[in-house]
Amino acid sequence: MKVRLLASSVQDPARRAYLTSFLINKTVAVDAGCLGFYGSPQQQEAVRHVFLTHSHADHTASLPIFAENAWTPAGNSLRVWGIPPTLDAVQRHIFNDVMWPDFVALSDKVPPYLRLCALQAEVPVEADGLTVTPIEVNHLVPTVGYVLSDGIGAVIIAGDTGPTTRLWEVAHRTAGLRAIFLEASFPNSMSQLAQGTLHLTPEMFGGEVDKMPAGIKVVAIHIKVRYRERVVRELGALGIPTLEIGECEKEYDL
Ligand SMILES: [Zn+2]
Ligand SMILES: [Zn+2]
Repeated sequence: MKVRLLASSVQDPARRAYLTSFLINKTVAVDAGCLGFYGSPQQQEAVRHVFLTHSHADHTASLPIFAENAWTPAGNSLRVWGIPPTLDAVQRHIFNDVMWPDFVALSDKVPPYLRLCALQAEVPVEADGLTVTPIEVNHLVPTVGYVLSDGIGAVIIAGDTGPTTRLWEVAHRTAGLRAIFLEASFPNSMSQLAQGTLHLTPEMFGGEVDKMPAGIKVVAIHIKVRYRERVVRELGALGIPTLEIGECEKEYDL
């Protein structure tokens, strides 16, 4: 499985991840924070499935731009997947004929832009050779992490979360687990903010790693750019041998 964190800044894109989007095997995306800024319209058109973790803007900001870029006059079969509260937010706050035309309703009248497809926690769906299973995590709005498996290997994209439990129970019984992408938003000195907004500091990140199966590569993502150096230093001090600091545009071959 080839996993890539898409860039969302013009300068120093590898390290300044202002928004979150993952691309898997070039045809499946997790989140659409910056998916609409990726590559050419043809490359965006090749993305057939978008799995949203939650409604927050850093994960959905470019979804309307992406849906427009990916559209052709022949229409397309783009599916935007999410749990019902996320899809409801996308419909009411993005495709609402104010922020953007209602592409969902328009798709009944013109060659389709997209279809919204509801997911149920822990019920897997198939998407371009991947089995994708949403697992509820612990964030300010209803949020899921995803287990993505290609039948040989699996990765977990944890989504935004504070300390959580169920995802790690599932991780323990996931065959061929190769890597876990987990957020580390704020430095340790901002633990109160992290707790209030249900994000992780490096110290809390270490607590989550203790609940994971041992020896799995864990990639730290969603580091708030303003605090990146401090967060990276504090993550390094945890001494986790399998830790990697996530970089945009790097191809993770998992
Ligand atoms: Zn969030
Ligand atoms: Zn976020």
